[in-house]
Amino acid sequence: MAQCAFIGLGIMGYPMAGHLQAKGHQVAVYNRTAAKARQWVEQHGGRHAETPRQAAEGAEFVMLCVGNDDDIRSVAYGDDGALAGLAEGAVLVDHTTASADIARELEAKAKATGKAFIDAPVSGGQAGAENGVLTVMCGGESASFERAQPVIQAYARAVTLLGPAGAGQLTKMVNQICIAGLVQGLSEAIAFGLKAGLDMDQVIGVISKGAAQSWQMENRAPTMIKGKFDFGFPAVWMRKDLKICLEEADRNGALLPITALIDQFYHEVVDAGGARWDTSSLITRLTRKG
Ligand code: NAP
Repeated sequence: MAQCAFIGLGIMGYPMAGHLQAKGHQVAVYNRTAAKARQWVEQHGGRHAETPRQAAEGAEFVMLCVGNDDDIRSVAYGDDGALAGLAEGAVLVDHTTASADIARELEAKAKATGKAFIDAPVSGGQAGAENGVLTVMCGGESASFERAQPVIQAYARAVTLLGPAGAGQLTKMVNQICIAGLVQGLSEAIAFGLKAGLDMDQVIGVISKGAAQSWQMENRAPTMIKGKFDFGFPAVWMRKDLKICLEEADRNGALLPITALIDQFYHEVVDAGGARWDTSSLITRLTRKG
């Protein structure tokens, strides 16, 4: 069992840290809003730290799960940052969905002082975090990955090393590009079927047994048909992720014409008041009245 720290107890981090403690690891938690960290300790045990540095002190593995690149900088760097508290030989694991650049930057800073780094964005959403069945896409050196993998396994069903630092984030970008196009296709199909007067629950029941089947169809079509979006992965965060994809494509020369268009569609959804609506709310552009 390992000494761990978990920084960022949001929708994802809170249950992920809980699985670590439940599997017998010793967990120190830090959260910007301290009340959440105190609540976590009341619920799970472990230790509450006042700063990321204090959480990292004495830990063999320090997990981050915050919002974006800037949030990572604010918890990892500086006198009170996690890197300042991290012992030599310890591994910093970043579960934030962020750029590949910040992953490479974190690895360079960690290595300069004898520490290791793994970028490890996740897929599987809130339910995956709560049930401990996330898919974790990792980048970094294999020796550090081999050490961190059994610990990460506490909240994952698959933990895979895909290349050097940044490879986890690049893989998550591929994942988000797939989802963007797929959700738009599903939205158009459902909106078309509704306009055609079909019983779309029945239609989805039939076509989900064939080649049109997807995770989005199985898990999101029923709520898309009902027009329910107050759950899941927020549209505003999908925009954050697509921006990262588009910036990376600018650098590597990949063409993402549909992804760029769908990013604009999400812009419309956010402008219409849907910032916190699930990603499947893309369909509202096609079904709203007037
Ligand atoms: P969330 O509920 O908004 O939580 C964000 C966490 O980061 C909170 O603990 C927040 O602290 C902390 N934080 C944000 N900015 C900070 C800053 N500048 N300094 C210190 N702490 C800061 O987000 P989440 O849904 O858990 O998502 C976390 C990451 O996982 C994101 O990168 C997201 O894209 C990714 N992800 C999310 C999902 C999902 O379904 N939610 C799925 C896959 C991947 P406070 O409590 O003080 O606000």
